[in-house]
Amino acid sequence: MFRVMVYEQDLEEIADWVLEYPDRETGGDLFGFWTHSGSPAVQLTLGPGPQARHETAAFFQDVRYLSERGRALQARHGLQHIGDWHSHHGLNLAEPSGGDASTVYRTLQANGFQRFLVCIANIRVDEVGARRRVSRPEVRGPVRRQAGNDLVVTLHAYLFDRDRRGFSAGQFVVLPGESPIAASARRDRIIADPAGAGSAWHVERADHRAGQSGGTAARRVPDGWHASPWGSSFLRVFDAELRRCFPDSRLVLTGLSLTYHLTAGDEAWELSFPLDFPTSPARLRAGGADLVVDCGGDNSPRRCLAVVSELLSSVADRDGRDGSAEVPQR
Ligand SMILES: [Zn+2]
Repeated sequence: MFRVMVYEQDLEEIADWVLEYPDRETGGDLFGFWTHSGSPAVQLTLGPGPQARHETAAFFQDVRYLSERGRALQARHGLQHIGDWHSHHGLNLAEPSGGDASTVYRTLQANGFQRFLVCIANIRVDEVGARRRVSRPEVRGPVRRQAGNDLVVTLHAYLFDRDRRGFSAGQFVVLPGESPIAASARRDRIIADPAGAGSAWHVERADHRAGQSGGTAARRVPDGWHASPWGSSFLRVFDAELRRCFPDSRLVLTGLSLTYHLTAGDEAWELSFPLDFPTSPARLRAGGADLVVDCGGDNSPRRCLAVVSELLSSVADRDGRDGSAEVPQR
């Protein structure tokens, strides 16, 4: 059993895409990173490209679309291609087919990947009212009704490893809202805005408490701070505010470390968050300057941004004064 981290927004988009092809396969690709414990963390989802082929029992991604977007996501945001997803629509097959498994092993070989995440979507038809009786809290979004039935897109996650036969099934850790990296990629027009049809989805969720207190399991090495519920909500607020103040700022992920590139005055700055943020502080670097972002114990996103802005403006003031001195004093 493994856990896959994914944002609500990605699940909503997948559900919308799946219901666009109710009786044919569709699919796309998953970008993100691998955590210390080997779990995939999805930061951005691609849908089918314009030249993708949708057949009843096969989906062929638009290869050019995937490689162009993949290159842009790697170059601008440091994201890796960690997996893909496709729909088995009404085929009633929640697991990868034999053909799917062969395709994955070819992908692992061709790209030299160690692991690959495969998500399979199915369309579940619920009788009206049935879902309300079951009342699953993890079913989200307004339900689209067709011929008196509710359509729910279910998603299952599977992990393939180059050195092992078969695959293992996973559970989801669903993070709220949209990943800041996806938001940034939309702003850069690497991916389009979501259709926003609000289709209903269902996933099997990991039980956080059971996952952390498992009998033989040692205490987990913390994953990237930004993948924790606190970290992701910090980053969402911080990212929006930062982009408001510094419109050209962009987020780059290298492994688990997270760095913003931004311009203040004429200087290009790097704002980097350490792996153990907020235990260790963020730092601002440009030229020879290396400034600690000291929030004085208040690690709210707004306080952090205020300190960053103060540091940048104090540097700009100092530069201004130095530049305006007509005659050096000594
Ligand atoms: Zn399949």
